[in-house]
Amino acid sequence: MRETLVLNAGFEPLATVSLRRAVVLVLQDKAVVERAHPGLRVRASAVEMPVPQVIRLCRYVRVPFRQRAPWSRRGVLVRDRHRCAYCGQRATTVDHVVPRAHGGQDTWLNTVAACAADNHRKADRTPEQAGMRLLSRPFEPTPADSLLLALGLDERDWLTAVA
Ligand SMILES: [Zn+2]
Repeated sequence: MRETLVLNAGFEPLATVSLRRAVVLVLQDKAVVERAHPGLRVRASAVEMPVPQVIRLCRYVRVPFRQRAPWSRRGVLVRDRHRCAYCGQRATTVDHVVPRAHGGQDTWLNTVAACAADNHRKADRTPEQAGMRLLSRPFEPTPADSLLLALGLDERDWLTAVA
């Protein structure tokens, strides 16, 4: 996967993001292309554009990238790419691995994206109690995830549109 460098509006480097995320930022007018691969183009829905190597945010963002992003339901869905942690299908809900009824907290490490069916099936049980296996462990968001959250950007609608 190609990585694109993201600069703040004042040209300071902020993070690297996947090509897909870089294209989403440009298509949503959050960033402009500063440098592109010569000759390489990417198609995204009806748009064709050069493959960006460096993009720059249109608006200055003050983001504590090295700090932990505050927890949010939307943040969990963005971090997990809207994929259910139990079956890999499209997720629209957030599951507490250790249920709130058993003292589970709203934290990055205790929450995962889940499809409505699995969330309902698991109910107020731990994965072990429910006989369900996590496909991956929950984790703190990466700097790139934090960047998307800080920009109020949800790439969900673009995931299928971008090549
Ligand atoms: Zn599921």
